[in-house]
Amino acid sequence: MNQLETTMCNNCGHVFNIVFKEKSHPNNIKETYIECDRCYFHYTSFVTDSRVRKLQKKKDQLKGAIHIERRLELQDQINARMARLKDNLIRFGRADL
Ligand SMILES: [Zn+2]
Repeated sequence: MNQLETTMCNNCGHVFNIVFKEKSHPNNIKETYIECDRCYFHYTSFVTDSRVRKLQKKKDQLKGAIHIERRLELQDQINARMARLKDNLIRFGRADL
C-alpha cells in the first residue's frame, strides 16, 4: 500500500492526507488545491492559466543540455506568473487580474 503524505491543517490542527484536487475557474484557469477533511479549510497549491500551460509545454519540448539556459528562463517566467495567479486567487478570489 502506498504511504500517503500528510499535512497538518493550520485552521483546526487536524492531520490529513494530501489529496490534490482540481477546480476550474473562468478564462481557462485551473486551480490545484488540498482540503482539510475535518474543517474543509481550502489550501490553494498552485494555479495555472493557458499561458502558463503553454510555457510549460514549450519547456518540456526543449530537451538536452544545450537548452538548459532557455529552460531555466522559461521556468522563471512560469514561476513568476504562477505566483501572481495564486496570490490573486487567494486575496481577491480571481486569478486573472
Ligand atoms: Zn482543518
